[in-house]
Amino acid sequence: MRVVVSGAAGFIGSHLCDRLLADGQEVIGLDNLSTGRAENLRHLQDCAEFRFFRHDICDPFQADGRIDVVYNLACPASPRDYLEAPLETLAACSQGTRNMLELAICHRATFFQASTSEAYGDALVRPQHETYWGNVNPIGPRSVYDEGKRYAEALTMAYHRERGADTRIARLFNVYGPRMKRGDGRVLPAFLDQALRAVPLTVFGHGSQTRSFCYVSDIVEGIVRLAASDEATPVNLGGPDEITVLELAKVVQSVAGVDCGVTHLELPQDDPNRRQPDIAKARRLLGWEPQVELRHGVRLMLASYVK
Ligand code: UDP
Repeated sequence: MRVVVSGAAGFIGSHLCDRLLADGQEVIGLDNLSTGRAENLRHLQDCAEFRFFRHDICDPFQADGRIDVVYNLACPASPRDYLEAPLETLAACSQGTRNMLELAICHRATFFQASTSEAYGDALVRPQHETYWGNVNPIGPRSVYDEGKRYAEALTMAYHRERGADTRIARLFNVYGPRMKRGDGRVLPAFLDQALRAVPLTVFGHGSQTRSFCYVSDIVEGIVRLAASDEATPVNLGGPDEITVLELAKVVQSVAGVDCGVTHLELPQDDPNRRQPDIAKARRLLGWEPQVELRHGVRLMLASYVK
């Protein structure tokens, strides 16, 4: 197999490259390094099966030779990053996704789109099943990501229906693990960084909002299985267990062995209240089930930060 991974220097993208290379595939990695980091790929610099191009997917990309799968993961993903770069985020989701779809069409390759639980917005149902259409504020600050990813899904389905593209869409729920930037603003990097500095953990709002976390190796397994399936409609990939942000703060402190307390800051606008995936479809179609329990995953992530 010869594949393209866009967003290769990002958190999930770099883990996906590692996995595909370990499976014996040849990987062409693309990243404009706007939020991705070259250090996430440094260990691959002498790997003959890996080639990296600093490339913005908003520009067309041509690959020589055969391409079997195009994995499109390029997009700012942390709220802090996409709120700082709204237009870039929309461009990556729209023009960028289109260029990656054209690449897939040109090579008759399978196209994989990394979508998000944010497609459900501030969901009014729980758990969120793939048939739920979501509750997204289309003009709020988060809309650049939420609507961007929803547009990327629409574009992917249009290429599937009109152009016969062989497509997959995964909706990823709060992925965490090593290589998340310590200062990227997302809750686990923030809490772990604060626990390591023994300062109070910044809980936004009351901390009663929930998320369902999934360790990166489990997500990568789900992505690989989905790409190998023939399911064109979206599939949720995430941890089935919900936890409040306040409970998460306790887990992090207990794993880190600190008691530094929490400080409450203002809740960001349109911050989703409850988020929990229904993963019955992934279980049924892919035989997929997350394996890494939250405390264990947090321990692995903490260990990667103190190295
Ligand atoms: N959050 C928090 N403190 C932080 C960072 C985030 O309480 O320092 C909250 C945030 O308001 C949200 C949840 O943690 O309710 C998850 O935030 P994150 O940015 O990781 O991802 P999201 O699911 O919102 O995209």
